[in-house]
Parts: sequence; structure tokens; C-alpha cells
Amino acid sequence: MHQPLEGESLAVDLLRDELGDAVSFASDILDSARRDKSGYESPSAPLAVVTPRTTEQVQAIMRIATQTRTPVVVRGAGTGLAGAAVAGDGEIVLSTLALNKLLEVSRDDELAVVQPGIINAELNEQLAPHGLWFAPDPASRAISTVGGNIATNAGGLLCAKYGVTRESVLGLKVVLADGRLLELGHRTVKGVTGLDFTALMIGSEGTLGVVVEATLRTRRLVSGPVAVISATFTSVEDAARASAVITASGLTPAVMELIGESAMVHISDYLGLGHPGGSQLIVQFDGPGALAEADAALTSITSLGGTAVLSGDRAEGERLFSLRRSFHPSIARLGTVLIEDVCVPRSALPAMFAAIGDIERRYGIVIPTVAHAGDGNLHPNFVFDGPEVPDTIWAAADEMFLTALRLGGTLTGEHGIGLLKRRWLRDELGDDQIELQRQVKRVFDPLGILNPGKVFTA
Ligand SMILES: Cc1cc2nc3c(=O)[nH]c(=O)nc-3n(C[C@H](O)[C@H](O)[C@H](O)COP(=O)(O)OP(=O)(O)OC[C@H]3O[C@@H](n4cnc5c(N)ncnc54)[C@H](O)[C@@H]3O)c2cc1C
Repeated sequence: MHQPLEGESLAVDLLRDELGDAVSFASDILDSARRDKSGYESPSAPLAVVTPRTTEQVQAIMRIATQTRTPVVVRGAGTGLAGAAVAGDGEIVLSTLALNKLLEVSRDDELAVVQPGIINAELNEQLAPHGLWFAPDPASRAISTVGGNIATNAGGLLCAKYGVTRESVLGLKVVLADGRLLELGHRTVKGVTGLDFTALMIGSEGTLGVVVEATLRTRRLVSGPVAVISATFTSVEDAARASAVITASGLTPAVMELIGESAMVHISDYLGLGHPGGSQLIVQFDGPGALAEADAALTSITSLGGTAVLSGDRAEGERLFSLRRSFHPSIARLGTVLIEDVCVPRSALPAMFAAIGDIERRYGIVIPTVAHAGDGNLHPNFVFDGPEVPDTIWAAADEMFLTALRLGGTLTGEHGIGLLKRRWLRDELGDDQIELQRQVKRVFDPLGILNPGKVFTA
């Protein structure tokens, strides 16, 4: 077991003195902070888990961390898929779960002010009586925090039309590594004063500061008809081609999800449904033009060999999306899962699916894949036994990442870099940009105590 060093013991004493019962050393609580939902597990437990109830307490934690040079891992709900919220030896975990209030709703200005630990779906339940909603809808919306969504710039099913988290954040309050409180951004729709530090914080994975409050852009609840198409294709590449054609024709689906054949088999088994075979494309349109847009999409789908059913029933749409949301649990029971997250230009989706098929054949593995096809974001999944990722899986993943980059894409559409994608960061960013990013990190966190080792290698 790790014996606390001198600075660590001091940090623990100071935390106890200043934060009292907000500090926990319970072994089950320390142990749960060793993992997120990526399958990665830190080899040891952190020093303490601190659950502040006020911004002042967050500032106190960061002042103590700076004074004692103790690393801090900020943690929301721990549902991340990149190992970014896992903590270990000599680290303090700062849990945001008690900072979970909706502080203000303004229907007139279409905004809401929240604390970071509020759960995404609970925020939306509280916004609904005001006729408003917060658009980012990760498939983990029932279990992930808005602070975590901001720190990972989370996407979701509706992001093709309504944008990722970045498009729904107007301003942030952030506690810096030394305990100072910054107010970033604005409550206005526009705002270009100075450098855009709000954007810099979004997706920074707890490496630059602790988000303690967020002013969110909300939207009016969408009323009127919805139209949902459920289409089956014999080949996943044809399904991907249909999605690319729908995008290229200027239609704006609210949701366009693709479920590859092996993914569909696992979902059907998990839910106890009969599986007719083939890949599934689910396309939903909303708003006044929903039915006309769906008719046009249907024509494209059938001309590309899809068998499709069009429904105007909201409940049918929800049923189809619950199939999609069952994907993660359906494969989590098969073994250890490495969930990947590449994103390519939407026109390149068919080529990316073809490349995944080629990798499957050459490595003799199956890579169940789903995609937010409306924004070109694929989740190829690698399933294996035991805690260590086998070398063949890393080699197959390596080819997949490099293919995505070659097609003009990116390593991660929404899950972030964390610990698990660091080895490919240089392939995408290049030496100069990595060095600039490290320098920015040092400006915000000169002692390197915020989530050390995440995103950037030492
Ligand atoms: C079943 C399932 C489905 C998922 N579907 C999606 C999806 O569709 N789209 C998607 O984008 N992701 C998805 N995810 C991944 C995950 O839910 C998201 O990354 C989510 O945004 C993480 O939120 P969290 O509260 O769990 O954050 P955590 O996992 O606790 O933390 C994630 C990162 O954010 C940092 N962080 C958290 N709170 C703060 C804060 N207040 N200030 C500064 N840094 C902070 C942490 O340090 C860490 O780096 C899914 C995960 C699961 C398990």
C-alpha cells in the first residue's frame, strides 16, 4: 500500500481541518475513483475523495493542493470512456456531485445557470416545465453530469442538428489551480471580448481548471410532428452511403444513427428480440418540415437498396432510439470493451466503414460498430478477455485511428483523450501544436497539479 509522503500527509491534515466531513477516506469510495467506464483501472487508490458543497470549498481544496503540491483529479459521475477521471497514488479526487443545483432559469433569455454536478437528464426534467431543454444528449444523459459533459465537450444523438456541448455553453465560472475564481464568457447570445477562454475550457478534461458554474444556452422545446425512418440494409457500407447522401442533399435530420450488423445482433440478444439481419439506419426529422424531409430521405434510402418504414409516432422514435442506447450495455456483458470514437467528414463514412471491415478480416476479429451518422462519429468497439488490451487489438485500433486521420477525420469525436488516446495525439496535432498546448496548460496550471498525465504525456 502507498505510504503518504510528507506533503500528502500535510494535504490530508489541511483538508480535514478546512473541509471536515466533506473529506472521505472510506475504502469503497476511494476504490470507486480508480475507474471510469472505459475499462481502465488505476493500479492504486487516491489519498482522499473530497465532495465540496460550495465554490468557496472548491477554492479551499485548490489552495491546499497548490500549497502542498498535491495533484487533483476532478470527477463528475465517472462515466467517461477515456480514463480521464481515474485517480491513483497521492492524488486528491474533487467530486462535483454535491454541487448539483439548477440556480436560475430565464425563459426570456433562453438560458439556465447550473452547478456542474447536476445530471444531464435531471436538468432537462427541471427545464421542461419552463418549456426549455438543454440540447446535448449523450447516450449517458441519465447518469452523466453537465460539468462532465462540458469538460469532455460531449455529443449525442441530437447533435447533428442541435450541436455538441460547445454550442450550448455561454459562460463558465472556473476555479484555477491556485484557488482563484474566474468568470468566463457571458449571458449574451453574442460576445467577443478578448480571447475565448470559455471555449478553451470546454473539452479540457479537468486539466485547466474546475468548472463550478455554467451559464447554458437552452432551447424552446420542439413541438409539432416528428417523422422517423427505420431502414435495413444488407451491407453497412450501403447504410453509410445512404446517410452520406441524406446529408449531402441538404436535409437536416435531428437524429441519424447507424447500427452495424454485429452491433445489431448483440442488441437483439440483449433485449431478447428476434434479429432479421442487416444493418440499421434510424433517421428522425422534427419541426414543421419533418414529414416532407422524411419523404425525401425515404426516396434516397430505397434507391440505395434499403428497406424502410416511415412512422409519425414519437413513441416509435423513442423505441428505436432505446435500441441504440442499449448498445453499450449489450456488449459490456461480453468482456472488457475498448470503446472507440473516431469522427470523419460525413462524406467519408462509407470509406471508414469499408476500412473497419477490412481490419476485421485481416485481424480475424469482429468490431461491433455504431455511428452517430449525422455527424460522422463512429464508435467501433473492441471486446476482449481480461483487464489488459491485447497487442493485436492495439494494432487494429492503431490502423483504425490512422485511417480516420487519413480520411480527414479525428481521433475522438466526443469521448476525449484522457489516458487511453494519448499515444496518438502527436499523429493528429503534430509537434508544434502539442508544444503550444503544453505551454497553455502551464499558464493555467504552472505546478502541473490538475489531472496530471491526462491528455498530455509527461
Ligand atoms: C453508456 C454510456 C454512453 C455514453 N454515451 C456518450 C455519448 O453519446 N456521447 C458522449 O460524448 N459521451 C458518452 N459517454 C461518455 C461519458 O458519459 C461522457 O464523457 C460524459 O460527458 C462524462 O460525464 P461525467 O459526469 O461522467 O464525467 P467524468 O467521467 O467524471 O469526467 C470526465 C472528464 O471531465 C472532467 N470533469 C468532470 N467534471 C468537471 C468539472 N466540473 N470541471 C472540470 N473538469 C471536470 C474529469 O476530470 C474528466 O477529465 C457515454 C458513457 C457511457 C457509460
